[in-house]
Amino acid sequence: MSLEAPEIRILGIQLSQELPGKKIAGYELSRSEKMQKIGFMNRDSSDYERMIGRIVGKVDYRGMAIVIGLDKRMNLVLAPEYGGEIRLHKSAEEMPKKFHFKIEFTDGGVLSVRLKSMGGILALDDEELLKSWAFARDMEGGIYPLDESEFTFENFSHAIRDNNTGMKTILVGKDAVVVGFGNAAYQEIIFQAKIHPKRKGVELKEKEIRSLFKAIETVIKRRLAKKGKDEFVDLYGTPGKHKLIMGSNFRDQPCPRCGTTITRAAMGGGHVHFCSSCQKLG
Ligand SMILES: [Zn+2]
Repeated sequence: MSLEAPEIRILGIQLSQELPGKKIAGYELSRSEKMQKIGFMNRDSSDYERMIGRIVGKVDYRGMAIVIGLDKRMNLVLAPEYGGEIRLHKSAEEMPKKFHFKIEFTDGGVLSVRLKSMGGILALDDEELLKSWAFARDMEGGIYPLDESEFTFENFSHAIRDNNTGMKTILVGKDAVVVGFGNAAYQEIIFQAKIHPKRKGVELKEKEIRSLFKAIETVIKRRLAKKGKDEFVDLYGTPGKHKLIMGSNFRDQPCPRCGTTITRAAMGGGHVHFCSSCQKLG
């Protein structure tokens, strides 16, 4: 289960309420070798020492990444894109046994990050941040659907009208039109919009682009109202309550709208679940 834009926003808001002003006393990495090797974490563990003594300033978030700004031009980037838990504990005793990264604050509090699969935990100075993949993808890339000034129908339809790729590429990954969605939101959005996964942006009629735009808004609103997906837990360990409206939980099940058995197909480097009756090829 990935942490997508709505869940990242929930965490981002909570982190901005809790962390500013806290001073970092120490850190610890655990089972992090693989992530360091592939560049999701700093290759040189001593890079993280630059955070010690730093005070948390502003917390930013966009897409699937959170940037915790520290004084003296340092930053901690958290982008657990394939899922994970970011938790704040009042003391070290409350810490879970398994984690990949933790920061201890001088007030005794501990921030822990546990990744489910791949995901970024990077200590970067301001210059390194600007050159990082997380910054290019999440902070600068695409249209952020949680920002009303960016996510307008005009911007969205302009970006999608000439797009010659299928729904997954439009919604997920580095070339996506919108930033912040993974496989879960992708399947929910196209089901909500009644659009077949094989459709390309360029093929969509004005009315369908409108449906897709509305579906993105609806999926985000629902997730936020339910405090995230049901497999997600927030900064305090409280689980979300949103049950996905489409996805692997509907494998071999009837479509909740029309009763047709849900189709599961390999497409775009993964599996997609959809209703061949509601979601038209055009
Ligand atoms: Zn259906």
